[in-house]
Amino acid sequence: MDAAEREETFRRLAAHMPGRTPTAKGPKDQPDPFRSVVSCLLSAQSRDVNTAAAVTALFQLARTPDDMLRLSEAEIAAAIKPCGLYNMKARSIRRLCHALIEEHDRVVPQTREGLMGLPGIGRKCADIVMSFTFDEDVIAVDTHVFRVCNRTGITQERTADKTAAALERDVPDWARRDGHFWLIQFGKSVCLSRRPRCESCFLNDLCRAFSATGGVVPPPSA
Ligand code: SF4
Repeated sequence: MDAAEREETFRRLAAHMPGRTPTAKGPKDQPDPFRSVVSCLLSAQSRDVNTAAAVTALFQLARTPDDMLRLSEAEIAAAIKPCGLYNMKARSIRRLCHALIEEHDRVVPQTREGLMGLPGIGRKCADIVMSFTFDEDVIAVDTHVFRVCNRTGITQERTADKTAAALERDVPDWARRDGHFWLIQFGKSVCLSRRPRCESCFLNDLCRAFSATGGVVPPPSA
């Protein structure tokens, strides 16, 4: 997609999708930076509802890095069991807490580089924390954003991290604030994973996957 097509794509997304409204779904119920990074760490390969259950259980036991380190790894693992991979995640949480205490004076860093330097925090988590906790205009790439970007041709990258970098480079400035929301809302309502609603889609004249498949866009392979 060239710059003019990308601009037009976001213009239509802005016209059709609600964006960053007070009722838009997002992890904004976790404005506390420590809770936000821990939630992100727990969300890997976990459904939202299971992540939320694990976060609630864990933060009933501890709310700060120091309190968290008073729990044993087994106690943390037991609390976060609903989100899966709980032994590995419990270890990562303890490493994260050590890093915050020893390297960041107990303060969650506000830069992408600082966040990605924390144990267990990758680009997606860093971008989510920056957007939802620190209110930066960043388009975090989750599974919906990745799928929509690759199908439409907004970006065409093999990984979520490369997609995030391409979005940062190519998305018009005016679209950065709500872009994450528009793409997720579009991915959940029109460009569905298994059965995208291509015939009625307001982007089908711009969409690379639509033109490449004659309108029979398959579900993602992975
Ligand atoms: S035409 Fe189909 S694949 Fe392309 S953006 Fe629309 S719903 Fe998605």
